[in-house]
Amino acid sequence: MTIPNATLLKARLLEHGRIYVASKRQLAYIPDRSTAGPSAGLDCVFFSFDGRLVRLQLSPVDGVCSYVPGKGIIFWGETHPAVEVESVLHCPEQAFLNLDSNCRFNCLFCASPLLSSHINRRTMREEVVVRVVERVREKIKGVALTTGVFSTPGESVEYMARIVRALRDHFGDGLPIGVEPLVTEKRQVDVLYDAGADEIKVNVESYEPETFRIVCPDLDYRVNLEMVRYAAEVFGDNRACSNIIVGLGEPEESVDEGARALAEWGVVASLRPLNPHPMVMGRLTEATGGKAGRPSAERMLRHALKHRDVLEEAGLDTRRFKTMCLKCTACDIVPQRDL
Ligand code: SF4
Ligand code: SF4
Repeated sequence: MTIPNATLLKARLLEHGRIYVASKRQLAYIPDRSTAGPSAGLDCVFFSFDGRLVRLQLSPVDGVCSYVPGKGIIFWGETHPAVEVESVLHCPEQAFLNLDSNCRFNCLFCASPLLSSHINRRTMREEVVVRVVERVREKIKGVALTTGVFSTPGESVEYMARIVRALRDHFGDGLPIGVEPLVTEKRQVDVLYDAGADEIKVNVESYEPETFRIVCPDLDYRVNLEMVRYAAEVFGDNRACSNIIVGLGEPEESVDEGARALAEWGVVASLRPLNPHPMVMGRLTEATGGKAGRPSAERMLRHALKHRDVLEEAGLDTRRFKTMCLKCTACDIVPQRDL
């Protein structure tokens, strides 16, 4: 298959990961600084070009990639027409809320628990979340909730379920709700489904057991996969998704194997390029013997092409997701959306 030029550009921008803007005042929107996800705590901007969306970290200096409003993205000397896109609450067209940035686990790639602010530690009671979403309702097509685990996974899930119920009661069935919890028991998946969540994301992180053991030392590989599989049983096809991080030092084929295994269960993977976050890269480099790093554009495209065939064989469709990363697309090359 010929890869569209816009997708090639997106892959190269994701490989580069950052962009220079002369002054934040030149930007039309306030940069997003999320407390979860690949760029937690870093200022990021969304750009759109030829139907693609990409999220890049603002960099105070960059000789390779810059944005000039009215012109576009200048990358390796070439100008590509692109426009800024507003992030509503973390991303375009969604309110993606982190209910708790504290976490007792120590996944080596995750900066969320290291952010000093911790301002959203349970400050968001149900009525506050409803009010926050109400304020942006006109701009969003869905809500997504994620959370760290301050106490136990069960307790975080109960809290998340309360928020889902409050949103469902207030906004009715017309507002898609996605949830991204850490679950360790099947009944936690049931609780979120019964509360009214439409879609769920349970992250594999790494499909390769040894890499998982290194980067998620507090989690159980087998239990985690069981939860991913069960999530699809409960929520159904095209309603369960999962991050597989690319660039943790895993063998390349393990990513494709993981995406295939998930598809057989009805789960759509997001093959997420590792963001070498400055707060975690030291420990990640040490733990992986220097193997962790942002994957190349070529590697992202190779995985995405294979993944597209796998999804089509399995009758899965990334375009059917209404919330979270498969709806957003800004951090990954998403099969059926980007190629
Ligand atoms: S469980 Fe791991 S990935 Fe999730 S918030 Fe906690 S440390 Fe981060
Ligand atoms: S793809 Fe996911 S992590 Fe990336 S900006 Fe969109 S919602 Fe956030």
